[in-house]
Formats: sequence, C-alpha cells, structure tokens
Amino acid sequence: MKSRREFIKIGTVGGVALLSANSCAADQTPEEANVPVDFEPSQPITKPIVVSTWNHGLDANKAAWTVLEAGGTALDAVEKGVRVTESDPENTSVGLGGLPDRDGNVTLDACIMDHHSNCGAVAYLQHIENPISVARKVMEDTPHVLLAGDGALEFALDKGFKKTNLLTAKSKEAWENWLKESEYQPQINSENHDTIGMLALDEEGNLAGACTTSGMAYKLHGRVGDSPIIGAGLFVDNEVGAACATGVGEAVIRTAGSAIVVELMRHGKTPQEACEEAVARIISKHKDLTNMQVGFIALDKNGNVGCHSVYAGFNIALRDKNHEEMVDAKYEKEW
Ligand code: ASP
Repeated sequence: MKSRREFIKIGTVGGVALLSANSCAADQTPEEANVPVDFEPSQPITKPIVVSTWNHGLDANKAAWTVLEAGGTALDAVEKGVRVTESDPENTSVGLGGLPDRDGNVTLDACIMDHHSNCGAVAYLQHIENPISVARKVMEDTPHVLLAGDGALEFALDKGFKKTNLLTAKSKEAWENWLKESEYQPQINSENHDTIGMLALDEEGNLAGACTTSGMAYKLHGRVGDSPIIGAGLFVDNEVGAACATGVGEAVIRTAGSAIVVELMRHGKTPQEACEEAVARIISKHKDLTNMQVGFIALDKNGNVGCHSVYAGFNIALRDKNHEEMVDAKYEKEW
C-alpha cells in the first residue's frame, strides 16, 4: 500500500499536483498526514486523464483518449468513449445487445454532466443504440434534465436518431433461458451487470462524466436504476471532482451515492477515502447485503483517482498520456 507521501511524490514527478488543498489538515505537512491510499496506478498519472468502470472501460477509454489527446473537451471525450460500449453487440449490459427486462424489452438509462453543471439524462428509453447522445441532446437542446420512456424516444427520433432492434440473438437466447425458471430475483453479479461510468479531466482542467446501462437483467418492466439519476449514478462538480457508480442502482439511489462522494471530497476526503465512505454508507444502510454489489469511482480536480466497492471483483480502466491499465478496486467483502 502506498503512503500518501509516496503518492504525492509520484504525482509531482508526473507534473500533476496530487495533493489537493483539502487533502490534509492545514496544520499538517503531507508527511504528517501520511494517509494510506489504496488506489495504486502502476505509473504516475498526468492530466488529461480518463477513468471508467469495468473491463469494457479499456476500449471506451481508447475512444475517449482520441478526443483528450487532441486537446478536446472532457464532455466530448466521455460521450465518444461510452458510445463504443453502447454500440458493442457483444456487451450484454449496455446499449445494443443489453439484456432485456423480464418481458423481453431492452430499456436503457443514461446521463451526462459537464463542467458547468449542465446535465441531461434519458430513462427507460427503447430502440435507440446510443442513449448517451440523446442525453446530451436533452442537456443541450431542452430546458430539462431527464426525459423518460415514449417521450424520450419521440425526442430522439425528432433529433434524427434511428430506431434499432436492441435485442440481439445472444441476449434473446439468454432471456429465453431465464424464462424457463422466470425466477424474479434481479441481482447484480458478474453475468448480469456492468454499467459503464466514465469520468474525464481534460487539458483545460475541466471535468465531465457519462453513465449508461441497460440496467439489471430481467428487471420489472419500467424499472429505472441509478444510472440516469444525476447525483446517484453520476455527479460532477468542476470545483471539486466527479464520481460515478455501478452496481445495485436502488442502493445507490437510496444513498445519493455519487453526490455523496463528491461532497465528501469537497469536505477534504481524497477520492479514495470518499469512495470508501460512500461504500460504508451503503453497507450501513442495508441490513441484507446479499448480492448488494456497488462500486464507485472518483476523480478530483487535480487528477487524483479513487475507487472502492462492497464486494470483490470491481475494476476500473485508466488512461492518461503515459499508460493505460486496469486497476482492481479494494473492497469490503468477499462474495
Ligand atoms: N447500476 C445499474 C442499475 O442499477 C446496474 C449496474 O451497474 O450493473 O441499473
């Protein structure tokens, strides 16, 4: 485990001040603070940077990186990045090919937020491959934040998005197999989850985030999770940092997960500490933690990254000028 001091040192080498003004008490030197930091990238992190949830984050980061390395905005980067995952028919938890609800409908949730606190979201959107881009249109072309269901679809079609059959043969087959038992036990495990949440800090020092998912597999028709809810699945405050969540959306909504992570950073926690406390909050608010997997990522204004989860298995993809890698999040419980 790296000490806070070591972490600061690598940050300085990489040219980014990893110690934010609030990350140790005013009367402490960084050496005295010496707070353990669990997040350990293999190399120093430099700005710009993009981080995202799970293995699919690697490919998504690649696309986001083409924007960031050309000096583009964090907002363009996160939209471009998560579109890759949305359009991947092999990925059964986001966009095209997402596992359907219990009635066989693929319904998608997404949101996006920029450095001015502008945000847009769509919930329970059907037939559109890239809900994140519809969410961006909601943000930029309407006075609203969230459109849902048929209204969101009408809006998307009006904006020129094309209708697509999102239920691929692979997902249809999985759903048909599930139908044989039809056991209504929506839960998060390695087969049926994996929202992509992505946070980026651009060359200008601005933050943005995106979050997109097909939600829990075989959920009740009409169920909406945390991913399109600003403050739950995603939150960005350019003065402080950004956070996103993956896992059981109901738990994240109950605890205002991503907003809490950002607020904790505002009050002096490092991104890692903030994620840990948000996970502790999830644990303390739920008596039954069976399958209650939730993971958070946080990125602060200075490029510090944190991640933490309730159960083992959560990982994040990170990319900056020097390298790209997957990092395993620390966790509280074994399955
Ligand atoms: N958070 C998503 C939801 O509850 C699912 C996930 O991240 O796996 O819809």
